[in-house]
Amino acid sequence: MTAELICVGTELLLGDIVNSNAQFLSRELAELGISVLHQHVVGDNAARLRELAAQARARSELLVFSGGLGPTADDLTKETVAAAFGDPLRFDEAQWRRICDFFARMGRTPTANNRKQAMVPTRGHAIQNDHGTAPGAWFEDETGHCAVLLPGVPREMKAMWAEQVRPLLEKRQSCTIRSRTLHVLGGESSIAGKAAPLFEGENPTAAIYCKTGESEIRVTARAADAAAAQAMCDERIERFRAVLGDAAYDTDVPGLAWTVVRALKERGLHAATAESCTGGLVAQRLTEPPGASEVFGYGFVTYAEAAKQALLGVPAELIERYTVYSGPVAAAMARGALAASGAELAVAVTGLAGPGGALPGKPVGTVYLAGADARSRTLYLYRLALGGYREREVIRARAALWALDALRRMALGLAQPDAVRAGFAAPPDALDI
Ligand code: ATP
Ligand code: MG
Repeated sequence: MTAELICVGTELLLGDIVNSNAQFLSRELAELGISVLHQHVVGDNAARLRELAAQARARSELLVFSGGLGPTADDLTKETVAAAFGDPLRFDEAQWRRICDFFARMGRTPTANNRKQAMVPTRGHAIQNDHGTAPGAWFEDETGHCAVLLPGVPREMKAMWAEQVRPLLEKRQSCTIRSRTLHVLGGESSIAGKAAPLFEGENPTAAIYCKTGESEIRVTARAADAAAAQAMCDERIERFRAVLGDAAYDTDVPGLAWTVVRALKERGLHAATAESCTGGLVAQRLTEPPGASEVFGYGFVTYAEAAKQALLGVPAELIERYTVYSGPVAAAMARGALAASGAELAVAVTGLAGPGGALPGKPVGTVYLAGADARSRTLYLYRLALGGYREREVIRARAALWALDALRRMALGLAQPDAVRAGFAAPPDALDI
C-alpha cells in the first residue's frame, strides 16, 4: 500500500511547533509495511489544502491527515477532504452527545461552533476521540483510496491511532504488528558496537532512538497473528539482552525510575536521596511513577554547605579538606541520608554542573555519586567525568540518571560498574577518588 502524510497547520509552516506527528505517523506506517511516498505540510488554507488533497488522492492509496479538526473557522480539513472524496458530511447525534459529555466532564458547555465537530462522513465513518473533543474521520472513494483524519494534538492523535486506526490498517494489510522497546543505558555508538548484527533484517526490525544518557531499541515484528509477532519480538529482545548485559535495564517502561521503584517494591526496600548539583532531579524522577510513596519518603536538597552539615551531618572538616565536590563528602551525604531517613538504601550526588566554578583537577562536569546500602553495609563511590558535555542541563540530567541506576543496582544486587567499594566503617579518605 502507498501512502502520503499531510500535516495541516500554519503554525507548522512558521516553525512555531515541531512536526512530531509526521515522525510518529511515518514510523507507524513503515512498521505496517505501508510505503510513505510523500510528507506534506500545508497551512490552514482551503484552496491549497483542496489542491493537495486532490493530487494526493490520485497518486496514493492512503492519505493520513493530522490537524485542523477543531471547531474554529480555520479548521477545515474535514470539509475539504469530504469534498475531494465526494462524501458529504452529515450531523451525527451520537457524536454530538459525546462532545457535550466531554465538555460536561470539564465543567464547560460547548459552543455552536462545536457542532461542526459532530459532522461525520456519510459513506465513511467517524473515528472516536475519547481523549478530546474533535472526532477523526475515515473517507473512502469509489477506487478504494482512503483518507484518515486525526486531530493535531499529539496525545489525542496517538491514542486514536493506536486504538482505532492501526487495527483497521492491520486488517487491510492482512497482518498483525507488535512492538517492544528495550531500554538501555548508554549511547548509540556503544550499543551499535556490541549489537550491530541484531539491527539487521526486515522482520523483525530493530531501530535505536537516543535519549540523554540512554537509548531505546524498538523491535517490531509483523506476522499472521499477535502471538507469532510477539514471539518474534521476544526472541530478538532476548538476543539484545544477552549482548548488552545489565545495561539493558527494562522493556516497555516509561523510564528508569519505573524500574527502580518496581525493584524497590519487590524487595521491600526504601530509598533516600541527598542531592546537591542535581537540585532534586533524582527525587523528582523517582516520584514520577505512581506508587513511589511506598518506597521513597526522604529526599534532601542540600545545595549550601551549611545544609549539608545541618541536615545530613556532613562534618565541616571534611568539606574544608576535600571541597564539597569530593568522594568523602558524597559518601558522608549518603550516610547522612540513611541515618536521617531510616531507609535501607541512599544515593547522594555532588558535583560541578558549571558553567563556572571549576577547581584545579576538578573541571566542570566532575560529579561524585555515592551509594549507601545499609543491608550489606557497603558504600559505593563513582566519579563521573561528564566534562565532555558543556550544557549544565545535560550534566545534571546525566548525573540524575546515573544516581537512579546506582539505586537500581543496589536494589537488585547487581555489580556497580567502575565504582569504588568500601565498608561502612571505612574512613572518609578511603573514598577520596
Ligand atoms: P483542536 O481541536 O485542538 O483545534 P485540531 O485537530 O484542530 O485540534 P490543530 O489546531 O491543528 O489541531 O493543532 C492543535 C495543536 O496540536 C497545535 O497547537 C499543536 O500544538 C499540536 N499539533 C498540531 N499539529 C501537530 C504536528 N504535526 N506535530 C506536533 N504537534 C502538532
Ligand atoms: Mg485547531
